Amino acid sequence: MTMESGWLLPDLEESTAAPFWEGTARGELLVQSCASCKQWRMPPRPMCPSCRSTEVTWERTSGRGRIWSYIVPHPPLLPAYAEVAPYNAIIVELEELPAIRYAGNLVTGADGAINEIDPSTIEIGQPVTVVFREVEDVFLPRWVRS
Ligand SMILES: [Zn+2]
Repeated sequence: MTMESGWLLPDLEESTAAPFWEGTARGELLVQSCASCKQWRMPPRPMCPSCRSTEVTWERTSGRGRIWSYIVPHPPLLPAYAEVAPYNAIIVELEELPAIRYAGNLVTGADGAINEIDPSTIEIGQPVTVVFREVEDVFLPRWVRS
């Protein structure tokens, strides 16, 4: 993790997740898949929890899902986040396989602020679609209502 902008950002050089971030840079939401038993897993890890294979492939997803859960953080938070609190953080279950879940923020567009949506309007089960925002050299997945 780095925090140059004040945002927590992933290490793009970390080999297990690097293909995921290469995908987001292309505008693709990927999921790690076991090359042996084909089971999908998220977050990425070096070994399949099902068959213990270390061979992986990456599959492109639809980028569509539903809100599985969400929170509205309030201070005390890291300074860059305290400035924009309260905001939302959501967990999205993937349309193709709801056991695959991604964390992000619900926004109105790729460059929207993480506090621009009234949290009282967020509902479990709402359909969402991924968008990507470039922060420094990272393309962060975020979510808009479908
Ligand atoms: Zn496997």
